[in-house]
Amino acid sequence: MQSYGVTEWGKPLQQIVRETPAPGPNEVLIRMSYCGVCHSDLHVRQGYFDMGGGVKNSLADRIPLPVVLGHEPIGVVAAVGSEVSGVPVGATYLVNPWIGCGKCPVCLQGQDNLCERMTSIGIVRPGGFSTHLMVPDKRYLVDVAGLDPARAAVLACSGVTAYSAVTKLGPPLPGHWIAVIGCGGLGLIGIAILRALGYTEVIACDIDDSKLEAARAAGAQKVLNLQRGGGKELVAMARGGLSGMIDFVGAPSTSALAVPGLRKGGRFVTVGLIGGTGTFPLVALALREIALLGSAMGNTAQIRELVELVRSGRLTLPAVQVRPLSQAEESLQALEAGQVTGRIVLDTQTPAG
Ligand SMILES: [Zn+2]
Ligand SMILES: [Zn+2]
Repeated sequence: MQSYGVTEWGKPLQQIVRETPAPGPNEVLIRMSYCGVCHSDLHVRQGYFDMGGGVKNSLADRIPLPVVLGHEPIGVVAAVGSEVSGVPVGATYLVNPWIGCGKCPVCLQGQDNLCERMTSIGIVRPGGFSTHLMVPDKRYLVDVAGLDPARAAVLACSGVTAYSAVTKLGPPLPGHWIAVIGCGGLGLIGIAILRALGYTEVIACDIDDSKLEAARAAGAQKVLNLQRGGGKELVAMARGGLSGMIDFVGAPSTSALAVPGLRKGGRFVTVGLIGGTGTFPLVALALREIALLGSAMGNTAQIRELVELVRSGRLTLPAVQVRPLSQAEESLQALEAGQVTGRIVLDTQTPAG
């Protein structure tokens, strides 16, 4: 098998060739078809996440090299372990990359993403920038028959991350608005998911007019350029009815919109990892019953719900740019340089010679 991974922190990805392993009793070997390229792959390559305020969450201290990147994998079953039933060789599956311990109370409820011992495919375990991928258990497989596999890859990280954030809002109510802050890839799929789930009143916020145009196309009714307005303008646009905000930026300036913007009982869901510290007037949080919620990734059941939403025709998967696996490093560099519109998906079926 051929993979692309980090062999030295902060350095370009290298090609890694090794023998394809045989699955253990509960494992499933996938012959990869496509793998999405995520912004967090850049953080993994550099060896740390910037937690803001000069604090770094180091991966280099706890993850041995090499690290094969890729946590939006989709592919075809090549072989299964002796204990695996009901997973036919040749079937196409999307893989949930967020892997819990499988034994604790939250894992037993299928909420692997809340496991304190969570690991992940493409960060801790070998990932999908590869011709083959070993999945530890069939419960991480999601049947995607009928979906375009290149587009469906993004459901494993960016799709489920946006979906999980939307499910933390209250139900859609007439006259109640939702603001989406940050209209990059996550924000755009977030807006499409909101519309698919019946939230008809959505305000998109960004500092880039071209992204706001894309947000309108994704289904936002109103847009606000945050360089020209803030909480006061949000209140006016929603006529005081802003009941939810999803912050896909996650900076002090965006979290500061929560209290002035939201109506009573409003929910502020923070997802973005720009970092820093938010400050909130506590009396206003209490008296106006405003909830602050964090959201990260999602679980297998949520990915399945998302796939159903696509199958029902209510959610259209965004277009992607497909590149060969051998361009994994070039793709990361393009992402780093801000030259990518929409998601890059690597075609892992045509390895370099
Ligand atoms: Zn990701
Ligand atoms: Zn667990």
